[in-house]
Amino acid sequence: FPVENIRNFSIIAHVDHGKSTLADRLLEITGTIAKTDRNKQVLDKLQVERERGITVKAQTASLFYSYEGMNYLLNLIDTPGHVDFSYEVSRSLSACQGVILVVDANEGIQAQTMANFYLAFEAQLAIIPVINKIDLKNADPERVEKQIEKLFDISKDECIRISAKLGTNVEKVLQEVIEKVPPPNVNIRDPLKALVFDSTFDHYRGVIANIALFGGEVQKGHKIVSAHTRKTYEVNEVGILTPNEQPTHKLYAGQVGYLIAGMKEVTEAQIGDTLYLHKQPVEPLPGFKSAKPMVFAGMYPVDQSEYNNLKSAIEKLTLNDSSVTIHRDSSLALGAGWRLGFLGLLHLEVFNQRLEQEYNASVILTAPTVPYKAVLSSAKLIKEHGKEEITVINPAEFPDKSSVSEYLEPTVLGTIITPDEYIGKIITLCQTRRAVQKDMMYIDEHRVMLKYIFPLNEIVVDFYDALKSLSSGYASFDYEDAGYQAADLVKMDILLNGNSVEELGTVVHKDKAYAVGKAMCERLKDAIPRQLFEIAIQAALGSKVIARETVKAYRKNVLAKCYGGDITRKMKLLKRQAEGKKKMRKIGNVEVPKDAFISVLKRQ
Ligand code: GDP
Ligand code: MG
Repeated sequence: FPVENIRNFSIIAHVDHGKSTLADRLLEITGTIAKTDRNKQVLDKLQVERERGITVKAQTASLFYSYEGMNYLLNLIDTPGHVDFSYEVSRSLSACQGVILVVDANEGIQAQTMANFYLAFEAQLAIIPVINKIDLKNADPERVEKQIEKLFDISKDECIRISAKLGTNVEKVLQEVIEKVPPPNVNIRDPLKALVFDSTFDHYRGVIANIALFGGEVQKGHKIVSAHTRKTYEVNEVGILTPNEQPTHKLYAGQVGYLIAGMKEVTEAQIGDTLYLHKQPVEPLPGFKSAKPMVFAGMYPVDQSEYNNLKSAIEKLTLNDSSVTIHRDSSLALGAGWRLGFLGLLHLEVFNQRLEQEYNASVILTAPTVPYKAVLSSAKLIKEHGKEEITVINPAEFPDKSSVSEYLEPTVLGTIITPDEYIGKIITLCQTRRAVQKDMMYIDEHRVMLKYIFPLNEIVVDFYDALKSLSSGYASFDYEDAGYQAADLVKMDILLNGNSVEELGTVVHKDKAYAVGKAMCERLKDAIPRQLFEIAIQAALGSKVIARETVKAYRKNVLAKCYGGDITRKMKLLKRQAEGKKKMRKIGNVEVPKDAFISVLKRQ
């Protein structure tokens, strides 16, 4: 394929505005997949994506299309829209020259539409605005066009109105891609220069790197070098994604495809790495800003004997998701484990679910925490750390006030877009989350965009759920990093009969300690089944108890139910009880159901 006939583009949008559905139609029109009623979000391959109805991993597909007597190769990269995965979006964009920006004709521009638009705009990509779902009864494409003009300075004449569901005008979108998106600016006679923009791990074939070629060509048998590790590999296979891997003889400059080259270790295929031919080194491509984790949590095997299995599962999964950071960690109560950093709580939950579903691993997760900082005043501690300002990602290591001159907490700039009838409730919610308003503007007659600085720890767990529920689902939210601010923080422990529950130790703002402690004790009370003795549940700041609940004793004699000697029934009962126990965590003499922890941490 001549480079002039290649287009690399991505579809970006707020979640649920129809990216994946539009991708399905594009795959059908180009004959990449057969047209049936069953093509639903074909690019969402992962089980969690199908269950949650969201795209988590960006996927690539090469489409062939002829237009005005010419054949084109169109490389489509589908992206996730959720705020936690915007890192995936920016990575996808680095392999593209243009984007289709999809906006729902009914919902209009939402918080992530803004964030995604700016990513594309800053990368100087061609932007094709598309208004989707015009088949809906309440569709108001005119209003959306006005929003696009006002917020993005793009003329309404450029907007294409479509229904991805019915296929209306979708062909027009493909033609615009050919007309508006420039071909990649590359030369096939240059030496090979390939950007690794994604990689996946296959149990049988090892590492599969998704690459975009910025120069030269590559084929089976070539010796390639990783600019990052300087290691040399022999290429076993190259091909394009349709969207499944389809081997080809060669990949050329301008193309997007995959490469397998005997990389077995997860660390070998760094996303953002540049590959070149042996003895033909090139200037590496800029690569990517590394993802900045916002939420940390401890992860431990339920049983220490599963440590090695869990270790390899985590390593394989992080190859698929390079935005997760890993530190080894250990705790007295939980044994050896890790402290993992995630982009947000949804990211954490999805990671956990993937471990369970794709690797059959069972894990204990600790309370999510944000990266706090402490400015130390104790000469001893400063010497120990070799610096004055430390970052704390584990509540167990939170230094005491007596050796600290100042605590700092991370903040974010949040964008909320909402119908104006909910403004009052939303402002109240933001105030209870210690947020400071920065901006408020009407984006059309009835919708408002609000901007607030939030302490990150006030939004990680459940802000989004709260916002959704008080706006009947209409408000949307997105955020970006906004640096650190001073904060009055304390470490809070949760005790069961005097023993600290390590999973639930948290850092909280002083003004919130009482309310958070009380709520956690109450929820824990509901989550712990009665046992043979009384259980005291306490929240404490140091030695000071600030909240308490009690679980009354209960004599649970299941075997009394089947006296009379039916031995098999007895055995069955005992077995079921033993299985129940496996899912329990013992703290002192108290048994706590393993999955109680995450639910306890969610504020309602
Ligand atoms: P994504 O999150 O942006 O990938 O959105 P999806 O493609 O998963 O679509 C979200 C929902 O909107 C799904 O239930 C789709 O069936 C629906 N949808 C997508 N496009 C259209 C459309 O043109 N018309 C209607 N009525 N529904 C659509
Ligand atoms: Mg999707």
